[in-house]
Amino acid sequence: MAGAAASISEGASDERVASPRHPTWSEVPAEQWSDWRWQLRNRITTQEALERLVELTPEEREGIAGRADSFPFAITPYYMSLVQGPGCPVRRQAIPHADELVTTPWDLVDPLAEEEHSPVPILSHRYPDRALLYATHNCPVYCRHCTRQRKVGDASSSPPRAMFEQVYAYLRRTPAVRDVLVSGGDPLSLSDQRLEEIVRALRAIPSVEIIRLCTRNPVTLPQRITAALVERLRPYHPLYVNTHFNHPRECTPEAGLALTRLADAGFVCGNQMVLLRGINDDPATVETLNRWLLRHRCRPYYMLQCDPVVGTAHLRTPVAAGTEIVDALRGRVSGLGLPHFVIDLPGGGGKTALTPDRLVRTRGRSLVFRNVEGREFEYVDAPMRGGPGTSEGGARSVARDLEPPTR
Ligand code: SF4
Repeated sequence: MAGAAASISEGASDERVASPRHPTWSEVPAEQWSDWRWQLRNRITTQEALERLVELTPEEREGIAGRADSFPFAITPYYMSLVQGPGCPVRRQAIPHADELVTTPWDLVDPLAEEEHSPVPILSHRYPDRALLYATHNCPVYCRHCTRQRKVGDASSSPPRAMFEQVYAYLRRTPAVRDVLVSGGDPLSLSDQRLEEIVRALRAIPSVEIIRLCTRNPVTLPQRITAALVERLRPYHPLYVNTHFNHPRECTPEAGLALTRLADAGFVCGNQMVLLRGINDDPATVETLNRWLLRHRCRPYYMLQCDPVVGTAHLRTPVAAGTEIVDALRGRVSGLGLPHFVIDLPGGGGKTALTPDRLVRTRGRSLVFRNVEGREFEYVDAPMRGGPGTSEGGARSVARDLEPPTR
C-alpha cells in the first residue's frame, strides 16, 4: 500500500507557506529558490551529488549504475526536498532502483506505438481528431515510470526547428486534427519565448481548436508557472493544461500556487494520475489527492494504468486494483473527483476506459444495477429509436410496451 496518505489538511489555505527545503539549500535566497532556471541549473544528476543529500540503499545504488545509460535520473532541488525515507512516494518516482533492471517478456520500449503512428517527425497521430507534438526531450525530473523514457533525457532527441515546420504543414493539410497536445519531455522546459512561438504557430492553424500543454512542471518544478508565463500564453486560449500529480506528498503550497495561477489565467487544468504499485494504489491516497486537486481547480481526469514500459514492471498494479479504487471512490466523492480509469492498449490500441461492472442482469428493457452499497435497483430503459412505444413506432404509450419487472 502507499505511504502516508497526506499531510494536507482539508480546506487549508496552503498557498501562504513554502514547503520545507532540504538543509543543503536552507541558505539559498528565496528569489533564487523560486527561480525555475536556478532550479534547473542545480538539478541533481550524479550519484555523488545524491549521496550528499540522502543515504542511498544498496538497491538504489545498483539502479543508478544499471540505468546510467538507458534512463539516467535528474531531480530538482525543490522535488528533492520532498524526498524522505526509502518507501517515500516521491523518492520512488525519482531515484532509480534495482527493480528497474528486471524486465518481463511483455515490456516494450514504445508501448503506445507512437513511432509507428508518426506521419512526420515529432508528431504522433493516433486518433482522428488529436495529435501529439513532441516538443522537447527535457524534463525537470525524469520520472521512473515514464512511458517516453526512450526519448527523454537524451539530448540527441531534441527536435530542430525545421521539424516543427513539417508539423505545422501537416496540421494545415490535415484539418481533421482539432486538438494538439504539446508534450515531450516537458514542453515547459522550453523558454517562455520558444513556447509562445510554438503555441502561436499552432493557434494560427484554423482547424486547431484546442491546444493542450502536457506538463509535470506544476509537480516537479512549480516555480516554472510564473505570472509572466501565464500572461504570455493567455492570448492563445483555449489552452488546456494536462498535469500529472501522483501522490498527496506532491501537493505543496508551491504546487497549489502554480495551479491557482493557471486557473486564474483561464487555463483549464486536468490531472492524469498514473497508478503505481506501493505509491498511490489505494483509495484513501487517491481520494486525498483528488480532493486537493479539486480545491485548486484541477479536475482529476484520468487514472492511468502504468504502461508496460521496460523497467517499470515493479511499479505496475493489477488492473483490478484500479477498478477497486474507482469502485471505492464512487459514492465517497462527487463525479468531479472521480477519474476515468484507463488502459492505453499496447501496440497503439488507444485508451480504453474500465468501469466497475454495476449491471447485474437484464430482461428486455428492464436493467438491474447494484449501487455502491450493494443494493439492487431496476431501471427501465428507453426504447430504441423507431421501435414500439415511440412516436416513430406509432404507439401512444411507452408504458404499454414495458416488459414486466424482473423482481
Ligand atoms: S515529466 Fe513526463 S515526459 Fe518527463 S520523465 Fe516525467 S513522465 Fe516522462
